[in-house]
Amino acid sequence: MYGLQTDWEIEAAPRECTLDDYRGTEARWCPGCGDHAVLNAVLRLARDKQLPPEKTVVVSGIGCSSRFPHYMATYGFHGLHGRAFPVAEGVRSRRPDLHVFVVTGDGDCCAIGAGHWVHAIRYNMNLTILLLDNNIYGLTKSQTSPTTRLGEHSNTHPHGSPLPPLNPLSVTLGIANASFVAQAADWNPPHLYATIRAAYEHPGASFVRVLQRCPHFTDHVYLPAREDRERLLLMEHADGVPVDAATRAKFPNRIAHDPRDLAEARELAGREDVYPVGLLYKNDEALRYDLVTAQGLGMAPADKLEAVERAIERFAL
Ligand code: SF4
Repeated sequence: MYGLQTDWEIEAAPRECTLDDYRGTEARWCPGCGDHAVLNAVLRLARDKQLPPEKTVVVSGIGCSSRFPHYMATYGFHGLHGRAFPVAEGVRSRRPDLHVFVVTGDGDCCAIGAGHWVHAIRYNMNLTILLLDNNIYGLTKSQTSPTTRLGEHSNTHPHGSPLPPLNPLSVTLGIANASFVAQAADWNPPHLYATIRAAYEHPGASFVRVLQRCPHFTDHVYLPAREDRERLLLMEHADGVPVDAATRAKFPNRIAHDPRDLAEARELAGREDVYPVGLLYKNDEALRYDLVTAQGLGMAPADKLEAVERAIERFAL
């Protein structure tokens, strides 16, 4: 397996793909589960970008959201708990021609997968990472996850979670070499789509935390934000997530935020009165480890060689 794969140079005949070309088996999440909205957004993105299904890979770990690869007619890898990142990094290293998505949950990413999460952000390989955060282990029927709020009841803590939750945005913004950090809510499909699209278009590890409804176990968690639109704070900037006028109008609470301002991004991420949605942070200068691994395996595309050399030079400093 080690060495240059050559079959990826074979191109399929051009054709127009429709949504049906990307749909896998019927999604079996609960009715009303926010995972459906994320799946629809990714299906639309694949269609709009005309991603060849045979050149697209969805990698997941374990959990409700990690059933995602089954529901797309692309390549997929439904892996081990917390291990989506290293699998995706391996795919990215070996096959720079593929479009790689990582779908993970709060239990999967922020608990057993936390070490891999930290390094995936630092490696900044070209991955579109979707963290579907429903504040609970849903697949295994309600155990406290790292993002479960203080005092929330679950099967593991029937008297209430004894610890404050981890904030996935603050953690990601604290990792060296982070290059794209955003947030969206599953119940606003146009904004969710625009955010995932911006993440896909970013050349590096783009991390999107999706506020994801779990009507079965934690419906109450995001209910205030669903009922009161003031609870979502739309971050606006020319370099942020582009939204049309109709989508913008759905967010009466808005703030100008330059996504290059890391200090302000951290401040916004830490707010507890609102959920900031849109692009918190972007760094187009962040180094990419996949360019280095690509060269190491003799696989760097010719037009990337200069960037690879620049990156290696900077690594050596
Ligand atoms: Fe979705 Fe919750 Fe049902 Fe899992 S248990 S499929 S997260 S609604």
